[in-house]
Amino acid sequence: MYKSIVIGTGPSGLTAAIYLARANLQPLVIEGPEPGGQLTTTTEVENFPGFPEGIMGPELMDNMRKQAERFGAQFKTGWVNKVDLSQRPFKLSVEGHGELETESLIISTGASAKLLGIGNEKDNIGRGVSTCATCDGFFFRGKKIIVVGGGDSAMEEAHFLTKFATEVRVVHRRNELRASKIMQDRARENGKITWSLNQTPLEVVSGDRGVTGLKVKDNATGKEEIIETDGIFVAIGHTPNTKFLDGQLQTDETGYLIVKPGTTETNIPGVFACGDVQDQKYRQAITAAGSGCMAALDCEKFLEGMPVHDWSQAL
Ligand code: NAP
Repeated sequence: MYKSIVIGTGPSGLTAAIYLARANLQPLVIEGPEPGGQLTTTTEVENFPGFPEGIMGPELMDNMRKQAERFGAQFKTGWVNKVDLSQRPFKLSVEGHGELETESLIISTGASAKLLGIGNEKDNIGRGVSTCATCDGFFFRGKKIIVVGGGDSAMEEAHFLTKFATEVRVVHRRNELRASKIMQDRARENGKITWSLNQTPLEVVSGDRGVTGLKVKDNATGKEEIIETDGIFVAIGHTPNTKFLDGQLQTDETGYLIVKPGTTETNIPGVFACGDVQDQKYRQAITAAGSGCMAALDCEKFLEGMPVHDWSQAL
């Protein structure tokens, strides 16, 4: 029986683990198939405060993990197949470790950027294919970029990337954009953005030094062509990793966990959520880490039998 279990080892989960461990709550941290989360698939992180020269994503996550271990957090690797949140202690069924019980639970399983699933795409992540303009845009100064997608994320990323690129071409599979009018208008007014609509991406084209083009098919004519580019930003949405919860926690219509405003409390007392699994707006390592800290503090209050939602009563 654990006092607290943290599921997920991105910046939010590891920050929660550091705080819980320093509060002497000996948390168990369960890491899944992508230990370290999305930052382990990026190269250099230049916007995490405290690293003036930048730091490689995997190294940053490794440091956070060591910091949690130093204060007594334990780690187990395995897929969480099932959870039972109907009563406390909560029960977790973890692949390779059987059933675990805990008085409190922090969910920090993140969200996964959707990929196109086309040839050469995965192999070129970090070599010109990216799913995060804020993280990687800076590396494309003076270069040509493609953004794939027609939603608000694609419009936002395209607009942002014009700060760095000479040309940003939006490639979208339909003639109509899905994005809100205001976001579309802003992108259309940006003279550096060009458009390839009604084009389905077929394959990432790359050479020794990374991405050189994107092969697309024109859906009206069936004609295939290679659009030359130095980078491809895939902005077709994210999927929050909540499937294992089997609907036991409240989510919004897109599957993100709902927390009480200003806290990390879910609809079940003793279950907290932090990081991208409850945030489709900011999605940054630093905001995830901040919410991980909040989750640990909320969890501590809960375990002490104090109200979480009203700190004025707790203090
Ligand atoms: P989204 O609205 O689901 O849009 C995804 C886009 O990617 C769609 O245009 C879709 O095409 C395309 N797409 C999906 N799968 C594809 C595939 N396999 N191949 C090619 N194209 C594919 O996702 P999002 O843009 O990330 O936005 C998610 C939510 O966050 C939305 O509610 C959005 O309003 C919100 N958001 C808001 C802001 C803001 O207000 N500042 C910024 C970002 C996101 P189809 O159109 O053909 O389906």
